[in-house]
Amino acid sequence: MPQDRASSPCAAAVAPRRRVAVLLPLPLKGAYDYAVPEGMAVAPGDYVAAPLGGNHYVGVVWGEAAGDVGEARLKPIVERFDVPPLPEVHRRFVERVAAYTVTPPGAVLRLSLGPVAALAAASPTVAYRLPAAAADADGLRITPSRRRVLDALADGIARPLGDLARAAGVGTGVVHGLVAAGRLETVPVAADRPPPEPDWRRRGPELSPEQTMAAADLRARIVDHRAGTVLLDGVTGSGKTEVYFEAIAATLAAGRQTLVLVPEIALTAQWLDRFARRFGVPPVEWHSEVSSRDRRRNWRAVATGGARVVVGARSALFLPYRDLGLIVVDEEHDGAFKQEDGVIYQARDMAVLRGHLAAIPVVLVSATPSLETVINVETGRYAAVRLPDRHGGATMPEIRVVDLRRDRPERQRWLSPPLVTAIGETLAAGEQTLLFLNRRGYAPLTLCRACGHRLECPSCTAWLVEHRLAGRLQCHHCGYSTALPRNCPACGEEDTLAACGPGVERLAEEAAARFPAARIALVASDTLTGPRAIDALVEQVARHEVDLLIGTQVVAKGHHFPLLTLVGVVDADLGLHGGDLRATERTFQLLHQVSGRAGRADRPGVVLLQTLDPAHPVMRALAAGDRDGFLAAEADGRRRAGMPPFTRLAALILSGPKATDVDRAAQALARVAPADADLTVLGPAPAPLAVLRGRHRRRFLVNAPRNAPLQAILRDWLGRVRLPGSVRCQVDVDPYSFL
Ligand code: ADP
Ligand code: ZN
Repeated sequence: MPQDRASSPCAAAVAPRRRVAVLLPLPLKGAYDYAVPEGMAVAPGDYVAAPLGGNHYVGVVWGEAAGDVGEARLKPIVERFDVPPLPEVHRRFVERVAAYTVTPPGAVLRLSLGPVAALAAASPTVAYRLPAAAADADGLRITPSRRRVLDALADGIARPLGDLARAAGVGTGVVHGLVAAGRLETVPVAADRPPPEPDWRRRGPELSPEQTMAAADLRARIVDHRAGTVLLDGVTGSGKTEVYFEAIAATLAAGRQTLVLVPEIALTAQWLDRFARRFGVPPVEWHSEVSSRDRRRNWRAVATGGARVVVGARSALFLPYRDLGLIVVDEEHDGAFKQEDGVIYQARDMAVLRGHLAAIPVVLVSATPSLETVINVETGRYAAVRLPDRHGGATMPEIRVVDLRRDRPERQRWLSPPLVTAIGETLAAGEQTLLFLNRRGYAPLTLCRACGHRLECPSCTAWLVEHRLAGRLQCHHCGYSTALPRNCPACGEEDTLAACGPGVERLAEEAAARFPAARIALVASDTLTGPRAIDALVEQVARHEVDLLIGTQVVAKGHHFPLLTLVGVVDADLGLHGGDLRATERTFQLLHQVSGRAGRADRPGVVLLQTLDPAHPVMRALAAGDRDGFLAAEADGRRRAGMPPFTRLAALILSGPKATDVDRAAQALARVAPADADLTVLGPAPAPLAVLRGRHRRRFLVNAPRNAPLQAILRDWLGRVRLPGSVRCQVDVDPYSFL
């Protein structure tokens, strides 16, 4: 052992070992020094395994060692993996994200590492199939689970173990059992076929003059190697996707990689099909639904450069691209780009940073750009390319405001008379309606008519939401679920629990009672999980097997329904309240997006917005189709209130199982809070979600001028207090959630 030699009395005679700094995927202050074993060649960016505290971790060689560890205590690197090194630009990216989000660099690196299995050299694996001649008389009892495995292979295609077990809904033991009995055979398969290359030489659709100009602008940025961020701004249906496909084609032609970031839910089969039609093959995907086998393969393909176009949710930003040439952020305004756990980051903003470090173009795409982006365009930090019209002359829908104070629905009903009439007419015309309500379940609140008790989550400051189809009460914050009780848990009275307010399930009930002949489909994120689940429904709607679509915001995203001519927004005010900085902006974006579902093809659409506040700027702007007027008013309000994007915010959230501990920690932080004159520190205050998953939460909010060194201030502040182990402190720079 080299270490023994080093610590022996004659150590002075031995040349000190070469050492390097290795960043481990752990929340440590920085990289640790390790010795490089004799005969191992390592360079910055190499993936290595290194020991720490009795475990081995996969980390990345970060650079020269700091050299402050004694030779005796220095541990050697255990293994170097045969994968292309993490590029220099990506290492700088990890550091910059860590600095910006005030998190340890190792925690950011962890996002880039992917499955450990991906580091192992590609080895052939086996797949399972039915043998040509099945031995039948072996007396093996064909249980239902064995039957499902055999059925899953009936098409003659060989499948890997995991896929097969999943397809059959059995454990892997069942498959092994069948192999042992001679009912299945194994065949070797190459593990890592590189993903097929998209063909940029294929012709896209004939572009309109405006689209041609926009595409030429983006193409020129790629061809001329021009860095910088550009907003691709155009109404829904104006052809933004077709236009950024041209930028992807140019990037492919230049031999570089493209990343398309989308909110996970917007990654649909429709989008993938369009990509495949344009480029001949599908892109490489990266999101929560990708199987572990594909994750391994895709990660490697990104690292080796074989993955030419990657489309994914926010985490795809941290993949170790070998040579990234373009980033597209589709639906850039979408709040789903904010990661709220672990490393808290805004993927759109970090994409801009990644583009800046690599000196490549970043294209932000939206019909309703965020105020941040709009202001960045106004101040010249970002460029803008605009697409004014819907493609093919399709008109924008007419938006009408329904004043619920005048046009009241009946008691315990939520569809106003004008909306009911409009639905009836649409049905009669053989066209489709979308009813939008951004609330899952049957009712958001259940209370006892006898004693007034409200059913609350035992571990969160939140009401339980009734899901009648599932027969359960659920907490939408922690996932707690329980059967609906017969008796009130407080007063014990029987059958006194009453549902208050509507969710989409209740709306579907009302619609079914009103329009018994209509074919109704209900869509909510709890009935659809993952990006692909919605596709079957989209197909049904496209084939006109549905008359009335009722859904939450999962239906608001870019689906094309040519026969859909009426959109009813059941509660346009929902989301306007609740002390959230972006509440009005978000409501505008969401309602605008929902409205964009109506009348896409040659049929004009109508949108009815049910509201109690028809004079609200959001409703007025929507009705007038005045997006830019709305944005100007919103910007003005934020500027006057001294709020982002004109100032910068950061939140500190302290949490722990014991309220007294959290309060004490909050007081300790409050005593040493930064006192700069141009800084406002609010709190500590109980968070609106004062208890979440059984943890008590207290918040600070810091408001600083745009040019203030916010991260340095936060680091300095946090460095002055030692928090007890039972209290966790999360830093949220540029917070989107104020709960
Ligand atoms: P956006 O991304 O702005 O919502 P899309 O790119 O999805 O718009 O285009 C809307 C619809 O119009 C899509 O069905 C698309 O295929 C079609 N489309 C857009 N531009 C063209 C074009 N130049 N030629 C043919 N079809 C087009
Ligand atoms: Zn809960």
